[in-house]
Order: sequence, then structure tokens, then C-alpha cells
Amino acid sequence: MKNRNYLLFTLLLTIGMFSSISAQVFSNADLTITKLEDKLWVVETTDKTTMYIIEGSKKAMLIDTGTKCEKLDEVVQHITQKPLYVVITHIHIDHAGNIEPFPDIYYHAADTVLLSRIKPYKGKTHFVNDGDVFDLGDKKIEVKHMPGHTPGSIVLLDRAAGNCFSGDAFGSGLVWLQLWPFSPMETYIQSCRKMEQLMNKGISKIYCGHYPYVKKAFNIDYIKNMRMLSEAINNENAPSPKPYNIKVPKIGGPDPTIATLNGVSIVYEPSKIK
Ligand SMILES: [Zn+2]
Ligand SMILES: [Zn+2]
Repeated sequence: MKNRNYLLFTLLLTIGMFSSISAQVFSNADLTITKLEDKLWVVETTDKTTMYIIEGSKKAMLIDTGTKCEKLDEVVQHITQKPLYVVITHIHIDHAGNIEPFPDIYYHAADTVLLSRIKPYKGKTHFVNDGDVFDLGDKKIEVKHMPGHTPGSIVLLDRAAGNCFSGDAFGSGLVWLQLWPFSPMETYIQSCRKMEQLMNKGISKIYCGHYPYVKKAFNIDYIKNMRMLSEAINNENAPSPKPYNIKVPKIGGPDPTIATLNGVSIVYEPSKIK
């Protein structure tokens, strides 16, 4: 009997290992690529940045470009050979760090102030606006402007699949709002409300910008908690705020503040809330 249990255990372990390996479709020294859904892959880098690849019947989309990924254009070719839109959720180095191999990128103009802070880009830049739709053939990907983390943060919606790709717009469990150039807390509250409305109208999964930390999609509860927490901070009623001791990116003066509600956190600069 003992032996039979052991055999069963070994069999289940083997099946488990095999199924997780089969979901992973590519890996190299910098990253692994895993299939999440039909025609949707997550690229997770060893330094915990995240990209997503969506393939439609005519075109494909790469969302963000990570920090250090050798020959990212060739890596993407392992997944899809369709003509590629490269869309950047916001201009921070961990999302736009690897744009050089691509001839064109798309991002929101409000983040242009941040572009000079990363490497010079010789390709062509295109600006996206709230409501723009990328036509991938059988898939349509819609842009929504969600400022707060940066002025030009966007999310990308695949309404048919119920998916939202959020970059850092709502963080990955914790959102940084203490970064230059600061947006008022009210701006972030409006973005949370807008996202909550989208989730009441068919969006059910938020795939965040640092997937390795969470390994799942967020649901509407995540956004509700972010909205309630941002409102509490704005009303100077944050639950047990405390100093957040981080080395980067310090702006001088005291440490920024962190507040947490129901497992979600916001890092902010108390003097820049209004
Ligand atoms: Zn990030
Ligand atoms: Zn960011």
C-alpha cells in the first residue's frame, strides 16, 4: 500500500513537472517565455521585468521591452513572425530599456519628458491616445490613458479576452507614485475609478508590469483596494503610513511614505499629494 502511494505521488509529481515545463516555450540567460492563454505569452526576465506578446491573425504586439535582453527582436521571432507593434506602457528604463532593436515604438506623448533619461533612440516614435485601437486582425487592442505612476502611463485592453496589460499604472502589488514628475493623488484616483469601470464592463484580468512577483492576474478587488487606499491618502487618512526606505530613486529629503490596505500598497511623497 505504501509503495502504491509512493508510485502515485511520483506519477503526479512527474505530470506536474511536465505540464509546467510544457507551458514554458523559450528560455535563455536573460529570460523565460511562458504561454498564458491562447496567443498570449509572458516574457519574464531574470531581473524581474515583464513583457507580453499577443499574436493576432495578421499582426502581433510586444508590450514593453524590459531592461537587459540580448537581441530581443530575435527572441520575439521564436514566438511569432507576424509584423510587430512595439508598445511601451510608460517610459521607465525597466519597460523601455531595450527599444533599440525595433524600428518603431508607440507610447503616450506625456511620457516624452522621461525619454531623455533613458538611452537615445534612433527609431521612429509614434504617440498613442486614449481610445486608439491596434488592429491585429482577429484581435483588437485598445489604449487607455491611466496617468499617476507616470504622466503618460497607459494600459492595453483585449476586451474580447477580458484582459488588461497594465505596465506599472497600478503597480504589481505596490505602486510607486513618489517618482518625478509627480502627478497629484487625484490623478491616480481618477485612473483607479476608470479602471474599476472597465472591470465592471467585461475586463476581468489585469496582467501587471512585474509578473514574476505575483505570478497571476489581478481581479477587480485589487483595483478597488487601490482606489480606496488612494482616496484615504488624499483625505490624509492613510492607514498606518510609515517611511519607505529605498535607495532608488531618491529625490533628496526624507524617505517617501508607504501605506497598505488589504494587501495593496502605495508609495508616495506626502508633500506632493495635491
Ligand atoms: Zn516597472
Ligand atoms: Zn515604472
